Amino acid sequence: MAILWPSGATDQVQTAEALRRALRFAVALAESSAGVLALRVDGVGAAPGPLSDDGRLITWGIGADAARRIVTQLALDAAPEPLDGRPRVMAASDIWAGEIATMTLADAGGVVGEVSFLGATGFSARRSLLDPERRRALLGMLVAAVRSHQQAARLQQENRQLGSILHFSGDGIITVDEGLRITGFNPAMEAMTGWRQHEVLGRFSYEVVKLHTPQSAPMGLDRDPLAQVIATGRPILDRELLLLARDGQRVNVTVTATAAAASAGQQVSAIMNVRDITRSRETEEMRTTFISVTSHELQTPIAIIKGYASTLAREDAQMDPEATRERLRAIEDEADRLSHMVGNLLYASRIQAGGLKMERSEIELASVARSVARRMMARSPEVDIRVRMPAALPPVLADRERIEEVLMNLLDNAIKYSPRGARIRVRGQSTGDEVIVSVIDAGQGIPLREQERIFERFQRVDNAASRRTQGAGLGLYICRAIVEAHGGRIWVSSELGRGSTFSFSLPREERAAAPLVIFGGAGEAEQAPEPRTSDVLLAGRE
Ligand code: ADP
Repeated sequence: MAILWPSGATDQVQTAEALRRALRFAVALAESSAGVLALRVDGVGAAPGPLSDDGRLITWGIGADAARRIVTQLALDAAPEPLDGRPRVMAASDIWAGEIATMTLADAGGVVGEVSFLGATGFSARRSLLDPERRRALLGMLVAAVRSHQQAARLQQENRQLGSILHFSGDGIITVDEGLRITGFNPAMEAMTGWRQHEVLGRFSYEVVKLHTPQSAPMGLDRDPLAQVIATGRPILDRELLLLARDGQRVNVTVTATAAAASAGQQVSAIMNVRDITRSRETEEMRTTFISVTSHELQTPIAIIKGYASTLAREDAQMDPEATRERLRAIEDEADRLSHMVGNLLYASRIQAGGLKMERSEIELASVARSVARRMMARSPEVDIRVRMPAALPPVLADRERIEEVLMNLLDNAIKYSPRGARIRVRGQSTGDEVIVSVIDAGQGIPLREQERIFERFQRVDNAASRRTQGAGLGLYICRAIVEAHGGRIWVSSELGRGSTFSFSLPREERAAAPLVIFGGAGEAEQAPEPRTSDVLLAGRE
């Protein structure tokens, strides 16, 4: 995985190199022949541990291995410290034949490490180390070098952290230099635009991140957010725009751009944060649709009920018993429709809240389908449903009431979107580990591009038939939730003008990993009371 912004690895080598130069200079000043600088890390002494040549142990004139052993030996030595210039003679050692003078490196901020000079016997008694002023200058120079190394290391660490934040950010982030050439482009930006980072680095940002106004007018360079912040230095906050992806797709985004001071080694003059708001837009639109659809759908039966009830209540009404009964039946039908609608709303809200529980038992789909068909035909005499199921259809483990709900919704749609009195068929088949039930109509059909969408909440095909018929676009959403909660699938194959076949499958055995609820974020909707839609649906009928 590539980190898109400079990781600082090369900078780290550079600061270690500066430290080594300072050590070489100090070795010369001390008139010694080699030097080892052991850096103190976060209060953990300048002691051995896993030291590395460019990390905590800097050497000059001696190999890193020998230096490591010397430092280890010095740390284990119980001699009173600090030696501060007094030679530690290690003449007979296999590591060093001569003298080692070790000194603490410290300033007002505390101890930063130790330096050991190695030289021929007698070198530490020379003026270079014994003269306090010379010694102070030499140690001061080394401490300053260590401090600047630490500072650089801190910056590098911060830079690395920043790099990974930018890399993993869910928002698209792009950085440019003052000439608007792209210097950073994170994976979220790649996903949004369809451009890969390696293709865009060094290119002009406006060639890659094509922004338009919400009314689809191109922004032009003069109104390009990155160009603007570089020109004016003033940030641009949360501007709603359209982003044209590489494949021409339009993405609703909010853009925040700020000018940034370029730090050493990093050519960043402006940074832009691009947030994809398509999803929240859709949710917003869905809410609006929900309100308009439901208020319309609820108002229609209420108006009808009120109309009939007022007629019946009129004191001067002279109606024969048959006419009265007809009106009462109409009121009953509309009340049923209201119940169905409210039941579906509760059901959808329950699914959304993530609490759809299944009570499974072994059920025969053939008998479920026949019973649902009988009920629907009893309700409307002109409905013609033919159920044909193989005799040997294996039983499935499912929640009978919920599966009845699915069948009822599919049959209801088949009736609604077919010519009056048209025949509807229900078929069953078993394929290895699944049982599939299909509801087939010869109605108006569904355009291909709508076939996926209609299983989403509040989605209806916009045509004359859907405007004529009532519905909130919840039925198929509920069907899908129920079927998927059983570990099954639901799909449609349809041809415009020729009819539709809605099928769902249920596993014969309960799948171990079958999800109870498969979509709908918990907490997104109010927790609704446990709906018993089937009861609601059939209330007053049975
Ligand atoms: P509703 O029927 O209440 O609008 P559904 O979720 O049940 O909601 O269906 C969503 C949309 O799918 C319907 O509005 C309709 O446009 C389309 N649809 C569903 N079933 C059929 C069918 N059998 N034939 C044609 N279109 C259908």
